[in-house]
Order: sequence, then structure tokens, then C-alpha cells
Amino acid sequence: MTHVMNTYARLPVAFERGEGVWLWDAAGKRYLDAVAGIAVCGLGHSHPRFVAALREQAGRLVHTSNLYGITLQERLADRLAALSGMENVFFCNSGCEANEAAIKLARLYGHEREIESPAIVVMEKAFHGRTIATLSATGSRKVQAGFEPLVTGFVRVPFDDLAAVKRVAESNRNVVAVLVELLQGEGGVNVCHEGYLRGLREICEAHGWLLMLDEVQSGMGRTGRWFAFQHAGVLPDVMPLAKGLGNGVPIGACVAAGPAAKLFKPGGHGSTFGGNPFACAAALATLAIIEEERLMENAVVLGDYLRGEFARRLAASKGVREIRGRGLMIGIELDYPCGELVTQALELGLLVNVTVDNVVRLLPPLVMRREEADELLATLVPLITAFLERQSAPQPAMQSA
Ligand SMILES: *Cc1c(COP(=O)(O)O)cnc(C)c1O
Repeated sequence: MTHVMNTYARLPVAFERGEGVWLWDAAGKRYLDAVAGIAVCGLGHSHPRFVAALREQAGRLVHTSNLYGITLQERLADRLAALSGMENVFFCNSGCEANEAAIKLARLYGHEREIESPAIVVMEKAFHGRTIATLSATGSRKVQAGFEPLVTGFVRVPFDDLAAVKRVAESNRNVVAVLVELLQGEGGVNVCHEGYLRGLREICEAHGWLLMLDEVQSGMGRTGRWFAFQHAGVLPDVMPLAKGLGNGVPIGACVAAGPAAKLFKPGGHGSTFGGNPFACAAALATLAIIEEERLMENAVVLGDYLRGEFARRLAASKGVREIRGRGLMIGIELDYPCGELVTQALELGLLVNVTVDNVVRLLPPLVMRREEADELLATLVPLITAFLERQSAPQPAMQSA
């Protein structure tokens, strides 16, 4: 019996090493990784420059705590501010913590404006994490069930529906912020319409709300820009980051601009590990490599290619509802629950993910090459085609007695 708590229905494989988009298990079998540790390992596995940066920092200094100055943390904050056009950064260790910081900022902001019970608008199908506050913000009963009482102070509306947000603005004087993923990840790779972010920004301006964009999954180059909001040319007030930021070394960040950037005072928030020298060296190396190897450009070209090829090769299959996403965050929505595709792909040496039961989700490393994308297509397309044929085939007639 394992002594690990039973929180994950794990696939029957464990990996021993990796290189680029490839992973190997203990038996030496090779797998093409189109999950990248859930949008974490943008540089792929064992990137030589990344490994060298970790080695160097591990031999120099790993942790000192935030009781002291941390030069690398300041450097990383400078970089994130420059890349985002925002101002200040709080460092933590994960996506849920980055969202917790955002929620705390929104509440502080509300109290400063003498709103005693500040509320945050959140979305249906949203995912913000597994802590008590972030699971309360999450729009999934599966994530919340069993953990009641939930944290109050969230108002839920449908995703990509500006009218619904406006209705809240007219009726609820306690709202101080909107928290939204521009591209919902866990919720099924759901994209919003062209004017959505601009519309949210206008509503936030009109009512003095903070616009908080959870870019934990969509950030760090995955959609082809550093942050997904940059496609829309609208600046958020608060932006939680994590996943791809440290390429697998745990680090999260809550980036803020304007009034939100100045709200925390000493003692107001903290983290023992947050932004330690090792994690910051990992993130600085990740940023440098994404930039110098032009990985965002690759994400655009390869993402367009993959979505186009899936659309073309699956055009004749009945049961493909939509192929969507941006850059290397790709969802293929089918008409049927398709979790079995994950194990079928695994047997063929391909790692893919299925979310909300019927969306095949691909989050490959940003370093993926065209030949590797072709291998992904060559394995996955026939699996999906065969799966859909089985679904639409007439069921065998019942044996009559
Ligand atoms: C994964 C994810 C989180 C939670 O991150 P953890 O590091 O698992 O706590 C929060 N928001 C979004 C959008 C995510 O994809």
C-alpha cells in the first residue's frame, strides 16, 4: 500500500528522465509529452541552459527567507513589471497562492473604500485553485463538494457574458473586483470573444473595480505572448501567475498595477519560501530562454499549425464539436466523454489530457518542433477518429431470449 494520500487517480506510469518534449519510464519506453506537467515545463525537460542555471544557483544559495533582501527576487520583479507593463510583484509558490494574494488585495481595496463586505465577481467553469478561498472562487461543484462552508464574497456569472457582469454592477454595491481567466484552462480551454476584455475593463473603470486576470495557465508565453491579456491590449490591475513561471521549480507571483500595487504593507501578507533565490533563478532563466529562443513565436506558429491540422484531419469525423485555443493551449471538444483517450494515447507513448470529461487538452512544451507536432498528430488523430466511430456506430442488438 502506498502512503501517499489518495488525491489523484494516477495513470499507471512513472517517469525517470526527460529531454525536450520526451519522457522515459523505468522500462525505457519513450513518451511524447503534450501536457508539459500541466502547462508548466515550457522549456521542455532538462533544457541544458535551465539545468546549468539551477546547478549554479543550488551551489551558491537556495533560501534565506523574506526577512532579508533577495537580489534575485528584485531582479525578477523588475523583469515581470517590464514584460507586463505593471508595477509590483508579490512572490509565492503556486497558482492558488497567487490567487489568494489577489483575493486579499481585492478585500483590502474594498475596505479602503469603506465597503465592509467586499465581493468579487467570478465565472462559471472558472478554476482558481484548491485552497478554501480559491476553491470557493472556482466554478466547479466537483472541486467544492465536501469542503463547505465555502468562503463568501464571490458573485458568479457566466463566462464571456458582459451583460451578466453589468447586471451585477447595477444591483450589487459590494463588488470591488472581477477575477477571470481570459482562456479558461481546467474549464475546457474556453476562449472569450474579441471585445470581452475591453468590455470588462470599461465596467471596472466605471465602477472602480479591480480587473484581476488569472494567468496562471495562460501566462508565460503559452498563448504566443507573455500574457494572454496582451492579445487584447488591455492592462489588468492584478495578475496571478505560476505554472510556467519556473519551468517546474515551484514559484507563483501576484503582479499588480495602480492602486492595487501599493495595498500590502509589512505584516499584511507573507510567505516563508516565496521568491527564494533558487526559485527566482529558475524563473529568470526561464524568461531569458523563452525570449532568446523565440519560444513565443514558436507557440504561435505551431499552435496555428496544430489547430489547422486537427481541423483538416478531423473534418470528416462526426462528433467533433469545436477545436479552439490560442498558441500552445489547445482544446478539442468532442460530443462524448472521452477520458479513455488518455490511456489509449499513453499506451502509444503519447501524453495528453482530458478536462471537463469531453475536451482533449494539449499543453505541449513551447520548445516543441514541427516534426514532433507531426508525431503528435499522427498518433492522436487516428485515436480520436476511431473513438468517434465507436461512439456513432450502432450498438450491437440485445440478445433475445
Ligand atoms: C492550475 C491553476 C491554478 C492553481 O494552481 P496551483 O499551482 O495548482 O495552485 C489557478 N488558476 C489557474 C487558471 C490554473 O490553471
